[in-house]
Amino acid sequence: MTSAIALVCDGCGQAASAEHVARRLKRLEWATRYRPVHIHTLFLGAFSPRDEKDFLYAPGGEFQGEAALLLAALGIATAGKMAEAVHAEFQRAGFFLTHILECPLEDDGSLQTALKNRLAAVATRIRRSLKPKRVMAVTAELALVLDDILAMDLGCRCFWITGSRSDCRAARERMALRGCERHSQALRRTKAHGQTRTGRREQRE
Ligand SMILES: [Zn+2]
Repeated sequence: MTSAIALVCDGCGQAASAEHVARRLKRLEWATRYRPVHIHTLFLGAFSPRDEKDFLYAPGGEFQGEAALLLAALGIATAGKMAEAVHAEFQRAGFFLTHILECPLEDDGSLQTALKNRLAAVATRIRRSLKPKRVMAVTAELALVLDDILAMDLGCRCFWITGSRSDCRAARERMALRGCERHSQALRRTKAHGQTRTGRREQRE
């Protein structure tokens, strides 16, 4: 008899079924298609949404959940547009979205443990491969590992943009104490100025 060997997913570090790996590869392929050559702003989420409609790069173009919130915050309209047009607009602005866990959290997993276990690999990927000018943490769940994220060398500045939920307030205050820019200022600048002007501004800072 042979004993079953548990597969571990490259994208999230969780025990993975063949179906889990297949879904991960599909999302990776969709996202890679719209990865800018030079990433200006890397949006960093905690984990990939369970529902494909919420995944920004899904080709269906329904843009619900996380995808809808992010696009709305950036002032990128989706009404009447093909999914490809929205993806291309996001890409042209130098934006890229990734998650610490590139898969949804499995039902029995601890989010904090799963995030902590992935941080070193994600920091290396950001520093060596994605190389953005800045990272914007975009989900409240990242507050669980905020201190770890702030302690990491990402090779660029890190901002925090979440909603106004009270559980985010403490995280924002901690960011402010460490000299991080207010999320609203950073976001306004993203909207008001294109990639190049924002890039120049930041180089002067
Ligand atoms: Zn996975």
